[in-house]
Amino acid sequence: MPNYERKVSPAALDIYSWLPKTNCKQCSETTCLAFAVKLLLGEQNIINCKPLFTKRYEDKKRIMLNIVEALGYEVPEDFEEKH
Ligand code: SF4
Repeated sequence: MPNYERKVSPAALDIYSWLPKTNCKQCSETTCLAFAVKLLLGEQNIINCKPLFTKRYEDKKRIMLNIVEALGYEVPEDFEEKH
C-alpha cells in the first residue's frame, strides 16, 4: 500500500485543512490526509466523509463542496437535504 503521506501536494494540504482532521476512519482511510490525497486523485468521494456533513462542520462542508466542485468533481445536488 502506498504511503500517501510521504509526498503530499499543496492542493491535498488545502483540502486537508478543510476536513474535520479527526482521523475517524469512517471514510475507510486511515487518516484525513490520506482521504484528501485520494480525493484529489479522484479515488475518493467527498460524500464518504460523513462527519463533514454533520451540523458541527457546516462551515467546513460549504467550503469543501466549493473546492470539490472547483476541482471538477461531482457534488450530489440533493445531498444537503438528505443529511
Ligand atoms: S471520514 Fe472524514 S474525518 Fe473521518 S478520517 Fe475520513 S476524512 Fe477524516
